[in-house]
Amino acid sequence: MARVIMAAGNWKMNKTPNEAAEFVGALKAKVEGAYSEVVVGVPFVALSDVKKAAAGSNIKVAAQNMHWEEKGAFTGEVSGQMLAEMGIEYVIIGHSERRQYFAETDETVNKKVHSAFKYGLTPIVCCGESLAQREQGVTADLVRFQVKIALLGLSADQVKKTVIAYEPIWAIGTGKTATNEQAEEVCAIIRECVKEVYGSEVADATRVLYGGSVTAASAHDLFNMPNIDGGLVGGASLKLDDFEKIVKYN
Ligand code: PEP
Repeated sequence: MARVIMAAGNWKMNKTPNEAAEFVGALKAKVEGAYSEVVVGVPFVALSDVKKAAAGSNIKVAAQNMHWEEKGAFTGEVSGQMLAEMGIEYVIIGHSERRQYFAETDETVNKKVHSAFKYGLTPIVCCGESLAQREQGVTADLVRFQVKIALLGLSADQVKKTVIAYEPIWAIGTGKTATNEQAEEVCAIIRECVKEVYGSEVADATRVLYGGSVTAASAHDLFNMPNIDGGLVGGASLKLDDFEKIVKYN
């Protein structure tokens, strides 16, 4: 089964609601009819305006986080149910910045993934090693561990829908893109890991993205690697022309 390439922007804590809506309003015409699936991951406060700005277009909207509980005494948190009611399609879960600055663990990632599916959201699950871990030679073990725990308890159909983003921490926001071969090697390991647990049909359907300083110049070669099904893009997704080129990587 052919996997549809995804170009997913992760805006992090950038763009006010007005700026976000203006950006998406302009992006609409640029990416109309694109072969790849276009997703923008925007701050919570901009979700509503971005949904309105994206109406009638092929742009899908992602939140950058969610809580696993439906509601309750969790000050400052947002639930999957709330996002679903807004018509949000995707949610980024377990980004390395959330793991590093907000103490997210593989276990909380797994709870969030389950909750995302409960409310009809599709998770984009992030994994990846630090530079020290790469140098210690534990990249494959670590990523396999992260992926297995993130997916624990999901049905085969849910795993097929899940998007896994391999994001080496040393490549995020640093301008140091992994080489095509480095990125492909780990994305292939992730697919193999999915295959071990869920079989080839599921592994062949599951999309695995690469993230880490993807640019308009690097997207073409990266997205054409056999096990890379697109990118989770930070910095370059904030610039209209660059993101358009990434969406139209071919
Ligand atoms: C990211 O935030 O997920 C990311 C990959 O950022 P950048 O593209 O800026 O490295």
